[in-house]
Amino acid sequence: MSYYSIPSFGQKVEIKNGKALKNNNPIILFIEGDGTGIDIWPATKLVVDEALKKCYSNVKIAWVEILAGEKAYKETGDYLPEKSVEFLKEYNIAIKGPLTTPVGGGFRSLNVTLRQVFDLYACIRPVKYYEGVPSPLKNPSVDMVIFRENTEDIYTGIEWASLTPEAKKVIDFVMSISNKKIREDSGIGIKPVSEYGSKRLVRMAIEYAIKNNRRSVTLMHKGNIMKFTEGAFKNWGYNVAKNEFSDYVYFENEEPNNKKIMINDRIADNMFQQIIISPQNYDVIATTNLNGDYISDAAAALVGGLGMAPGANIGEKTAVFEATHGTAPKYAGLDKVNPSSLILSAKMMLEFLGFNEAADIIEKALQKTILEKSVTYDLARGMEGAKELKCSQFAEQIVKNMDSVK
Ligand code: NAP
Repeated sequence: MSYYSIPSFGQKVEIKNGKALKNNNPIILFIEGDGTGIDIWPATKLVVDEALKKCYSNVKIAWVEILAGEKAYKETGDYLPEKSVEFLKEYNIAIKGPLTTPVGGGFRSLNVTLRQVFDLYACIRPVKYYEGVPSPLKNPSVDMVIFRENTEDIYTGIEWASLTPEAKKVIDFVMSISNKKIREDSGIGIKPVSEYGSKRLVRMAIEYAIKNNRRSVTLMHKGNIMKFTEGAFKNWGYNVAKNEFSDYVYFENEEPNNKKIMINDRIADNMFQQIIISPQNYDVIATTNLNGDYISDAAAALVGGLGMAPGANIGEKTAVFEATHGTAPKYAGLDKVNPSSLILSAKMMLEFLGFNEAADIIEKALQKTILEKSVTYDLARGMEGAKELKCSQFAEQIVKNMDSVK
C-alpha cells in the first residue's frame, strides 16, 4: 500500500469544538506503529471494517497510511516527516499504534509534537472492566473515564538543571520575591496551570458526562499543597460546573438528584485508594496532567492492564486515537500480543464519528470472546481453562461473534 494516498471515495472529517461532523466515508489517517504495531494494527482494521459492514450498507472508512516512528525513519530518514504533520493538519483525525521513543538527541518526540502543534488538550482514557478479564480486585466493578489535561503542568518542560546559571537566576529571583529558601544546588521545574486550560478540560469532561448519561464528575487535585495550581484547577472546575451547567449538575453537599450529574472533588492521594477500595463510586474523573498520567495507568491495572486500555487525545479541531501501551519489542511480529487497546481506541473513534452501532457491536463481541476464554497470552495466563489465540485469531473471533451480539 502506498503512503499518503487518499481513496477517491473518501471525505474529509470536519471537527468543530472537539466534535466531529458525521460523514459516511470518513478519511482516517493511520500510523501502523513500531514493534507490535505490525500485529495489532491489521487486527484492529479488520474488526473496524467488519463492524461497519455489518451495521451499515453505505459506510466505509477511507484509510490513509501516514508515516511516523521507525518505519518513517527507514523510508524518509525522519521519525516524524513534515508530510505526516501536514496531513493531520488537513484531515484532522488519526489512529496510531505504539511508537518507539528513540534514544539520543536531535529527535522531535512524536507525542509532544502532536500535542503542541494540534493543541490536543484532553487525553481521554476510559477504564472499563470486561467480565472474565483477570483483575487484582475481588469485585472489579470499574467503569471510569479519565480526562487528563494534556498541555500544561510540569509537562511544559520548563526546567533547569542543578547549578546552571539559569537555575541560579531563578532561585535568586524566587528568593527575592518570597521568604522561601531554596538550596542552591536544586534543579528547578515550573508548573503552570491556567484558568483557560483547566476550564476547557473540565468543560469537556462535563459535556461528555451529560452526553453519555454518566453519574458524576470528580475533580482530582492536590490543592491542599499546591494551592494556586492544583487548588485553582479545582476552583475553576467548580466555577465551570456552576456557571455553565447549572441545569445539569448538583454538588456533593446538596440533596442527591438522580436526574443530574454530581460534581465533587478528591485529593489526589486519596483518589488512588478510592479507585481500589470503592471504584463503583467513581465515574468521570477530570484532572491535571501529572495526576492524570499516574491515575490512568493505576486504573488500567484494575481492568487487565495496558493491553486492555484505550486512549484518545482530543483538541478543538483534531483527534488522535491510540493504543496506550508501548511497542513491546520482544513480541514484535510474533502475532501474539493483545490488540484490545487499539481495538477499543478504534471503538472510541467510531463513537466520535457517530457510528455508535458499530462501536457497540465491537464492544459486545469483544466481551463475548473474552467470556468464551478465547484470548491472547496475556489474559490467558490469568484465566483457568483459557484457549490461547494469536493476535490475528483473536480479532477474527471478535468478528465471528459480531453476528450473535448484534
Ligand atoms: P511496553 O511496550 O508497553 O511493554 C511492556 C510490557 O507490557 C510488555 O512486555 C508486555 O508485558 C505488556 N504489553 C505491552 N503491550 C501489550 C499488548 N498489546 N498485549 C499484551 N501485553 C502487552 O513498554 P516498554 O517495554 O516500557 O516500552 C517499549 C517501547 O515503547 C519504548 O520505546 C517506549 O518508549 C515505547 N512506548 C510508546 C508508547 C506510545 O507510543 N504511546 C507508550 C509507552 C511506551 P509482558 O511481557 O509481561 O507480557
